[in-house]
Amino acid sequence: MLFRYGTDSHGRLIKKAVVYTQNEHSISIKNIDPDALQIINRLRDAGYAAYIVGGAVRDLIVGNKPKDFDIVTDATPSKIKKIFRNSRIIGRRFRLVHVVFGSKIFEVSTFRSNAEGSVGNVFGTIEEDVQRRDFTMNALYYDPVQQQVIDYVGGMRDIKKHILRPVIAIDRIFVEDPVRMLRAIKYSATTHAKMSHQLRHKIRNSANLLGQVSPSRITEELLKILNSSCIYEIVQEALDTDLYIYLQPSAACLIYDSKDFERKYMESIRQLGELNKIDPDARLGKKLLFIIKDFVKTLTDWDKEVKGKTAYSELYARTWAECRNFVLPMNPVRRELEFSVKAAIGQCGVKSHSKK
Ligand code: ATP
Ligand code: MG
Repeated sequence: MLFRYGTDSHGRLIKKAVVYTQNEHSISIKNIDPDALQIINRLRDAGYAAYIVGGAVRDLIVGNKPKDFDIVTDATPSKIKKIFRNSRIIGRRFRLVHVVFGSKIFEVSTFRSNAEGSVGNVFGTIEEDVQRRDFTMNALYYDPVQQQVIDYVGGMRDIKKHILRPVIAIDRIFVEDPVRMLRAIKYSATTHAKMSHQLRHKIRNSANLLGQVSPSRITEELLKILNSSCIYEIVQEALDTDLYIYLQPSAACLIYDSKDFERKYMESIRQLGELNKIDPDARLGKKLLFIIKDFVKTLTDWDKEVKGKTAYSELYARTWAECRNFVLPMNPVRRELEFSVKAAIGQCGVKSHSKK
């Protein structure tokens, strides 16, 4: 174990960060995307600091496969852009750079200052940047050149002890950004980390803040959850902490109303988790089927409909409209919702070719 030193306000030398070497953190350089390595090397060659940060470092330590590799540097967006021809600056509020490698996009951001709390847009140092990250497990920096993990906040210890601990003060973390509550329950499930009673309590008491979040941001988080192999644990926790009302209000109401619906819905969610384990890239329509099928069953007496005279097109149109409302605030592309509604109707025994 090594240390990074700095000085305190009196000019005294103090330990600022713990540095874990390769044999201590067990991240194998082979598991780092070679294009991410190349981006870091190019930034280093230009004289800048550059690290892999956030989810990828967390996932590599836990033993999960990273979805993407986010990079952080002290180069400003315009400097980053000059180094990579295949890049573009994005974002109005806080600018960062997308570096494009074939079909892959890497997010390269500049260290942010915490001068205006954790939502301000001023550039800063690594020591400030770390203080704006939501949870300690998401606040580790990996240096692939030295093969070291730099830990300012005890994130490595928390990962090993299976603890989800906020970096940002508990009275600010969710007020400043309610989506962090969804992130909390997601990472708690995917890394098997426990929240303190205080944190869980805070989430339950702050759940209503999610009402202010835009449907598009809610949808973005919900889609990540729908793709997770831990969806069962996440939805369970979201129901327990009253967050699910904001993700899937109609489903949450039916669940709180009826034990029977809850049992069926949770079984479908469990099945979706299994699908995500074996076929994570399955089309959205296939995944939505698990979300709507139990609801579709409640819509009508399907045994009668099988024998009855209602035209398929009419049954379909009615069911589609009901499902479209049921999944709000999510607004899936029509083609995918159609796929899931047809499959759900099929599961109720009505086939399109069996009816006019
Ligand atoms: P995953 O991509 O697997 O969901 P991630 O941790 O990489 O997990 P991203 O949304 O890609 O999540 O964010 C990258 C990093 O940026 C996080 O690890 C965290 O350090 C920081 N971050 C993202 N969103 C927030 C937020 N709302 N508040 C504070 N820090 C955040
Ligand atoms: Mg990420």
